[in-house]
Amino acid sequence: MFGPKNRIITIANQKGGVGKTTTAINLATALAAIGETVLIVDLDPQGNASTGLGIQRRDRNLSSYDLIMGTHSIGDIARETAVPNLAIVPSTMDLLGIELEIAQHSDRVFRLRTALASAEAHAFSYILVDCPPSFNLLTMNAMTAAHSVLVPLQCEFFALEGLSQLLETVDQVRRTVNPNLDIQGIVLTMFDSRNNLAQQVVSDVRTHLGDKVYHTLIPRNVRVSEAPSYGKPAILYDLKCAGSQAYLQLASEVIQRERQRPAA
Ligand code: ADP
Ligand code: MG
Repeated sequence: MFGPKNRIITIANQKGGVGKTTTAINLATALAAIGETVLIVDLDPQGNASTGLGIQRRDRNLSSYDLIMGTHSIGDIARETAVPNLAIVPSTMDLLGIELEIAQHSDRVFRLRTALASAEAHAFSYILVDCPPSFNLLTMNAMTAAHSVLVPLQCEFFALEGLSQLLETVDQVRRTVNPNLDIQGIVLTMFDSRNNLAQQVVSDVRTHLGDKVYHTLIPRNVRVSEAPSYGKPAILYDLKCAGSQAYLQLASEVIQRERQRPAA
């Protein structure tokens, strides 16, 4: 088996609707299809990753809330999905109140890191954390726990706006609680080749961020947006569609880069 033993990747962007959850689900599925054992931790109270993987709300007795609260372990909470090798820690709306519950605790940003330090978590070769669209305590927990941050950027005019703030936040986390935090890469999403502006955004982003940007462009694709309503990753819903193929290519780029990374 190739790949790292246990790589924790946080998928973050404080903007909503840029493709975080879609990337979490489909990158995870693609990695699982290649034979990696993958866990998604859904840290968004909206629970889109959980729904998109077919986990009904009534089946979410235990969730990422319990993980952050420290009352249950990954082994108790993680559930299998329809995708072989892919498990998920689902989320519920309970997460909305968690900031208040843990705000007074000195370990408030370390909750997820502690939970992911367990032997049960180490059984996974990749853990992808799907973040809410804000820099809240949940996102801080995710960045504190991770080896790296993967940033989906939507190919639109305002793509770069907000990115500097995101990179600044990563820097701040690095300076304070997680010195080894890397940028895993930046993935451009919802690309529409017929749109001149989108082409311009791609070239601007590449100029500014160079080889941090993945070669793979995720196209805007109807099949990708339909898949979650069937509780399936696009890769299962329609393997042949351009979006699924792009996510498979992204997964091989991620693995390729992992192999090139100097061993820790
Ligand atoms: P985020 O998690 O950042 O809020 P989502 O992954 O939920 O973003 O995506 C926002 C919306 O855009 C969703 O309705 C999703 O289905 C749709 N979407 C995401 N990626 C694509 C794509 N490549 N093609 C078409 N629709 C997409
Ligand atoms: Mg989301």
